[in-house]
Amino acid sequence: MKQNTLLQIAKDFESPVYVYDSQTITNQYKRLTSAFNKVKNVKINYAVKALSNISILKLMRSLGAGLDTVSIQEVQLGLAAGFKAEDIIFTPNGVSLLEIETVAKLGCQINIDNLSILEQFGTKHPKIPVCIRINPHVMAGGNTNISVGHIDSKFGISIHQIPHILRIVENTNMTINGIHMHTGSDILDIDVFLYASEILFETAKNFKNLEFIDFGSGFKVPYKTGDIETNIEEFGDKLSARFNTFCKNYGKALTLAFEPGKFLVSEAGQFLAKVNVVKQTTSTVFAQVDSGFNHLIRPMLYGSQHEIENISNPNGRERFYSVVGYICETDTFANNRRIAEIRENDILAFKNAGAYCYSMASNYNSRYRPAEVLWHNGEAHLIRKRETFDDILRNQIEIDLKPKKVKV
Ligand SMILES: *Cc1c(COP(=O)(O)O)cnc(C)c1O
Repeated sequence: MKQNTLLQIAKDFESPVYVYDSQTITNQYKRLTSAFNKVKNVKINYAVKALSNISILKLMRSLGAGLDTVSIQEVQLGLAAGFKAEDIIFTPNGVSLLEIETVAKLGCQINIDNLSILEQFGTKHPKIPVCIRINPHVMAGGNTNISVGHIDSKFGISIHQIPHILRIVENTNMTINGIHMHTGSDILDIDVFLYASEILFETAKNFKNLEFIDFGSGFKVPYKTGDIETNIEEFGDKLSARFNTFCKNYGKALTLAFEPGKFLVSEAGQFLAKVNVVKQTTSTVFAQVDSGFNHLIRPMLYGSQHEIENISNPNGRERFYSVVGYICETDTFANNRRIAEIRENDILAFKNAGAYCYSMASNYNSRYRPAEVLWHNGEAHLIRKRETFDDILRNQIEIDLKPKKVKV
């Protein structure tokens, strides 16, 4: 998006504000589907938790995506956005049997990731086919916060427990219609992912009634210059060939499913914040914006590096800044970052703010969550209002604290 457009949006909708470009989302979706165009049946289920605004979900629906959900509320959001229940897969971790049963009753595809629930669900509802989430114990990426396939992970059923899965399936007479893995959020190395896929294929051979194999996500997008990006085209070629061979041997054209979040929306988003104060200290220059980790927590939570541009002074002389927020807590967005000279009231644009940014925002310090704007067909559409003081007070109950009258 053009810097002038972003500046105009910050003016019209005020700051802080999230801006998403629908064209970028569309392009990423098309890149992914065309990388797998040699497979007959491909299903892209967008991971709602990355960015769950209903207008974004509607955009995904218009592109032909299904949804990957992790809570019943995300399922309800998907239904509200017009998705059919059968286009929603429910992939929770550690939720109650009741929540899973409720979602199953709505008609969504259930994905079970532990033996206890598998046995209980299969015993009570042997007629409802379920997918199982496997942990292939493959470490994809180096950061243990976002690698969920390794040995200590709480996600999935270990491949070493397949004999137990088979026993439960046989005893309950339930149907397994899908096999799933989601090894984490960083495919640094295509070969690692293909290796994990082989484990999934091996597992799949044990089940005779499959309709799909779900390879989860882990597509990497660049956050800063020099970052590795998943070569989706090469990956598509390799996995497609392998998948087609598997289907031939299996005797059925299964559906190849993915559930990307970050890949579809990360680069489409920018977060615009205004500089309140430029503060020189003995060791650095702080640029303090009208936001904090209450609005964008990834740098503090994961050490993520979001590029920051001074769109009010793009040609200014570059200097080193520590960009921080206004929260009464250390809330650093960037340390020692080279940015075009920052003046008070300048607008800074934080890149890669589409995924896991707004959806992790909170009211900490009793601040309002920001507005969200979708740039679509050359126009800015407000898709979520900035909160107001009513939102802060909503659900709070003021009780009467008068002292109790004591009888004498
Ligand atoms: C979060 C999540 C995804 C999406 O991961 P990205 O890294 O955003 O692509 C996919 N599948 C499951 C089960 C998830 O929990």
